[in-house]
Amino acid sequence: MNFMKAISLHDKEFVPFLSEREIQEKIEALALQLNNEYADKKPIFLSVLNGAFLFTADLFKQITIEAEVCFIKLASYNGMTSSENVITSIGLAANIVDRHVIVLEDIIDTGKTLQHFLPQLAAHGPASVKIAVLLNKKEARQYQVDLDYTCFDIPNKFVVGYGLDYDGIGRNSKDIYQLK
Ligand code: 5GP
Ligand code: MG
Repeated sequence: MNFMKAISLHDKEFVPFLSEREIQEKIEALALQLNNEYADKKPIFLSVLNGAFLFTADLFKQITIEAEVCFIKLASYNGMTSSENVITSIGLAANIVDRHVIVLEDIIDTGKTLQHFLPQLAAHGPASVKIAVLLNKKEARQYQVDLDYTCFDIPNKFVVGYGLDYDGIGRNSKDIYQLK
């Protein structure tokens, strides 16, 4: 894909927003920071599927300290009313008791997903929990979440690519695009 060009996915057009190079530079800087801060902590990276899979892979390749990675899937169901939202967490297989956990998320939007998930995670007895996100839509926040590491603050506009999808497609782009 040529990053300078707009792309079409389903019925929508998307324009270039963050290049592969910009993304990889931020991830490299984050890895350096984590390698320092977690040097003797044997952290567990907890990646939230599906969106964070590429971010996780690229970051984890640059982690040079002893570390583990595991994956969970968070599902958000919208009921008949807006208050009727249920979040199900699938498969926290790792034992995180007394471990230093770094949650990896692709994007924080309203904050709903994390605000529901973090207490569940805390109940497993980790030594510490920090949040690292690739993209932060600050203006969209409805539920307060404290982020520890943010690669990019972005405007409240829909984005795709680099793991993020539009109705199932677009994840396999090295760059990130924004809705036109
Ligand atoms: P939150 O619970 O913070 O509102 O939303 C988090 C989830 O919503 C993300 O993990 C992601 O799946 C989805 N999401 C939010 N904004 C975007 C966006 O701009 N593009 C895509 N592809 N997904 C988004
Ligand atoms: Mg996500």
